[in-house]
Amino acid sequence: KGERLSLPPWLKTEIPIGKNYNKLKNTLRNLNLHTLMGDTCTRGCRFCSVKTARKPPPLDSNEPYNTAKAIAEWGLDYVVLTSVDRDDLPDGGAEHFAKTVLHLKERNSNILVECLTPDFRGDLKSVEKVALSGLDVYAHNVETVPELQRKVRDPRANFNQSLQVLKHAKKVQPGVISKTSIMLGLGETDEQVYSTMKALREADVDCLTLGQYMQPTKRHLKVEEYITPEKFKYWEKIGNELGFYYTASGPLVRSSYKAGEFFLKNLVA
Ligand code: SF4
Repeated sequence: KGERLSLPPWLKTEIPIGKNYNKLKNTLRNLNLHTLMGDTCTRGCRFCSVKTARKPPPLDSNEPYNTAKAIAEWGLDYVVLTSVDRDDLPDGGAEHFAKTVLHLKERNSNILVECLTPDFRGDLKSVEKVALSGLDVYAHNVETVPELQRKVRDPRANFNQSLQVLKHAKKVQPGVISKTSIMLGLGETDEQVYSTMKALREADVDCLTLGQYMQPTKRHLKVEEYITPEKFKYWEKIGNELGFYYTASGPLVRSSYKAGEFFLKNLVA
């Protein structure tokens, strides 16, 4: 077991997410991030500090309606709906996502909706349900390069399954923007990052974010490397060369980073 790496200077200036509840709350509010289907996940990814249970409490059937109502009242332009994984549900919660989008669009047809979804265990019917719900951006995170999937994600997840999810969303609804995210600093090589980016582009993924992996607690995967801001810039350049609509790449970039602003400026203007 190696020593824990000390925090590099470019990460010392900002408070890492999780340290300060109010900060986090504000961040979430600015990002317009809304979580569905409870706080308990059926999976246990080794980078994630969300609570885990085999059978989380049942869904709140009023949640799609109430969520849509609350979001519409805030008068937002862009919202990201995300959720824990619910492998205990037959459709993984796809219907729940779709209903929320429908209610939201009914109340405010101008709001842009991004769904950051689970992989639905690769169930393409579930993917389709969400992709055809009327959403604008279909996001699903591959999290890391193929070579590190087993080390990083729950064993039920894998790179190819996630790639199929993204591909299928775009196939059934070509007007949708597809989006994914990779964490760096988990021990991946440059070649692996490059070929992952290429594979994503070949699967018709439109937008990519790359950020630094931060260890949420001592029990989670260690950071293998702090990637320099220059290196993140380099990946942004590569992303642009590969033809993504946009590549957001930086030490503090999270998967919802600036999505709203980007789309408002570039795609709906
Ligand atoms: Fe966390 Fe998502 Fe993995 Fe669940 S599936 S443990 S919420 S990263």
